[in-house]
Amino acid sequence: MSSQSNSADDHLTEVPERHRETADAVIPEHTSLYIGGEFIDSDSGETFTTTDPTTNQKLASVARGTEADVNRAVEAAWDAFDTEWSGYDSGDRQRVLLEIADTIDAHTEELAQLETLDNGKPITEATIDIRSSAEQFRYFAGIVRENSGETMTDDTRYGQVITEPYGVVGQIIPWNFPLMMASWKLAPALAAGNCTVLKPAEQTPLSALRLAELIDDIVPDGVVNVVTGFGDEAGEPLTRHPDVRKVAFTGSTAVGKQVMKNAAENVTDITLELGGKSPIVIFPDVDVAKATQLISAAIFYNTGECCEAGSRLFVHEDVADGLLGALVDGIDAMTIGDPLLEETDLGPKVSTEQVDRTLEYLDAAREAGGEFLVGGDRPDDAALSDGCYVEPTLIEGLDHDHVAVQEEIFGPVLEVFRWDDYETMMELANDVDYGLAGGVITDDITQANRAARDIQAGYIWINSYHDLAPGLPFGGHKQSGIGRELSADTLDHYQQTKTINLSLR
Ligand code: NAP
Ligand code: MG
Repeated sequence: MSSQSNSADDHLTEVPERHRETADAVIPEHTSLYIGGEFIDSDSGETFTTTDPTTNQKLASVARGTEADVNRAVEAAWDAFDTEWSGYDSGDRQRVLLEIADTIDAHTEELAQLETLDNGKPITEATIDIRSSAEQFRYFAGIVRENSGETMTDDTRYGQVITEPYGVVGQIIPWNFPLMMASWKLAPALAAGNCTVLKPAEQTPLSALRLAELIDDIVPDGVVNVVTGFGDEAGEPLTRHPDVRKVAFTGSTAVGKQVMKNAAENVTDITLELGGKSPIVIFPDVDVAKATQLISAAIFYNTGECCEAGSRLFVHEDVADGLLGALVDGIDAMTIGDPLLEETDLGPKVSTEQVDRTLEYLDAAREAGGEFLVGGDRPDDAALSDGCYVEPTLIEGLDHDHVAVQEEIFGPVLEVFRWDDYETMMELANDVDYGLAGGVITDDITQANRAARDIQAGYIWINSYHDLAPGLPFGGHKQSGIGRELSADTLDHYQQTKTINLSLR
């Protein structure tokens, strides 16, 4: 592994300076709540700090929303729905969505830099996030015009099945893909005709606030509201609010269960996109160089902070030594450093809490006798000591029921298992509570299809990973969630059907 600086001193001066200058250029003007088309302080007047995980310096003070603010936002959203937004037909909404997409595209560089500052992800990956955020709006702008309902007639009745928006929905998102997750939520909700109250994660509120500034002239006041703050103070009241008709949540399985319980109080509809611990299965025929690239991207993309990360590797005995050696060589060649630089492969994790959480799992793995093929700690590099960095790590020799294998680490940590018997391997691959995704690498189409069908998960990649295309539904089996994003199913999740039965007698 190499760090980009020639010396710790360079890193200590150049990197903070670069980050300060970039922050001066891109931090949004408003870091307060966005309610009813206005940027306003929280009811309590309190704020919280969002930091830059590369430097651990403060980026901005952000309004700390609580229940009173959620109430205001829900009221503003219903007001917008009743007075204006419900009068927008699908063509009107399509135009709004396309305009949002164009606006995001026009600000790609700025939004990517903001995301990299707030989250720590490499700028190349942040740029991909922003482009795909714009694409979300375009995709739903396209399918909303096809959303026309059905009829069923016979001699005695004329039946129409129409769809209606819920009215006001609550949307709660995590910090790993901040603007992308906001877009995955906002685009279908608006396409379906809803108004929304969005709560970004406390670690990464800035890109949602900048988006609010950018769409302020495009979307009528109150259609989109952003309440920043903490999960228990601003998220929970949104899930319990009797006038919120649907809650869409992306985050951890533990919080998702809580959201489900709270939504039950008012029988509020929910969709949950939760955690994962996805297997990648390697067959003996693979091209080692190609497989190595795919596996590395599957786990190290976004510093391992991906719900769908391929974090358990099942490699066939026949190719294990060669493939693991190549993986270690690949890791040694990775550039770890300032995520604002194009050449950086791996940036810091999002926060010191997330570093500590990852290191706890690594300690537990070490105590259980896990063999660290590479990594296992913070990088031993003074140049990176101010940031939230964790080394890319490969661990072999853990029991499959070990906590580090069963639970989502959400960091750059891959656990390796060798196999020679397919049935035994597949039993282990499925022996987790999660079922979000999986990967299969082989040129044997029969084996590939068999494994894809056998893995208990909502999304399987054969010979690729992380490739998400609007139109192909994404979501989890088992404890990885309820509902699908990125597809026409998603539009369905944001509307309710109504049957109108007209008698012909
Ligand atoms: P998290 O701790 O569950 O938080 C997610 C969001 O929920 C945050 O906005 C959080 O607010 C809020 N929250 C916390 N407690 C809440 C409560 N009691 N009621 C309502 N909202 C509450 O998850 P995270 O650590 O931010 O994100 C990582 C997780 O997201 C991972 O498990 C990952 O797999 C999952 N994820 C899943 C998908 C998917 O599509 N399946 C995509 C991305 C991420 P604060 O942050 O402000 O506390
Ligand atoms: Mg931050």
